[in-house]
Amino acid sequence: MHWTAVCSIMKKAPVNKIIPFSNVDGPGNRTSIFFQGCPFNCLFCHNPETIHLCRNCGTCIAGCPVQALSLQDENVTWNSAACVQCDQCIKVCPYDASPRVRYMTVEEVMTEIRRTRPYIGGITTSGGECTQYPDFLTDLFHETRALGLTALMDSNGSLDFSKYPDLLDASDGVMLDVKAVSAAWSDTLIRYPRETVLRNLDYLLEIGKLYEVRTLIFPDRDQDNEETVRYVAEQIKDRCFYKIIRYRPFGVRERFQNILGTDTTDADYAEHYAALARSLGALKAYVI
Ligand code: SF4
Ligand code: SF4
Repeated sequence: MHWTAVCSIMKKAPVNKIIPFSNVDGPGNRTSIFFQGCPFNCLFCHNPETIHLCRNCGTCIAGCPVQALSLQDENVTWNSAACVQCDQCIKVCPYDASPRVRYMTVEEVMTEIRRTRPYIGGITTSGGECTQYPDFLTDLFHETRALGLTALMDSNGSLDFSKYPDLLDASDGVMLDVKAVSAAWSDTLIRYPRETVLRNLDYLLEIGKLYEVRTLIFPDRDQDNEETVRYVAEQIKDRCFYKIIRYRPFGVRERFQNILGTDTTDADYAEHYAALARSLGALKAYVI
């Protein structure tokens, strides 16, 4: 085997979890791989335990009811066989991290994908933010597509995709979150500059690698919702799907529910924005 192939197999990335069968992460039945770590810190994040890497502070160890966590050589170690998935560890973590992360090689992830291969149409990488590991994803996608599967990325758009042509060549496309268009709403909601996200929207459209855009609709945020939906719809027209997502407070950190509220976005209210998008030419807009 060539040396570069050996290196690529030895590359590791932190994986929070792998869902063998998902029908909400792209078209058809897919295996979804969630990577750990995200440069954003969105107020509405539903899985905030994926934002940061574990700092090995040890806070979560004592609360584990089945002693599945231990400190070894100053690193917190997780015994997946003993774990009962009670989530107590992520509830007490002060750093929006998780001790239940596996550093996996491409080959180890592929072993799991090969198990589900007969029942899926493809894989989706998500997170956290999967594009924090572009070289790993490039190798993973090559291996995946060699099996006749499709490979999509669910991304917050923080990576400047124009600088990673190999990654895009290896993939079937991107499902891009465009959460906020105005600087003020972006600073409040995702707490990260949105310029790269908006550049990615244009770039991915231009090269035909945008599978879908997603925007969350929040209750009582008429101006912010409309500004984002209008902008996206006018950019994408009917060139990709536009998923309008109702905000649901489930899983959102309590301290941020004070800002975003505890109401789920009304279905009719969200449908109003999907209709607006369609009226602007985004014919593949729909609500979930
Ligand atoms: S989720 Fe697993 S590791 Fe975490 S506290 Fe519960 S049993 Fe322990
Ligand atoms: S998961 Fe959180 S609480 Fe547990 S050791 Fe890591 S940083 Fe500390």
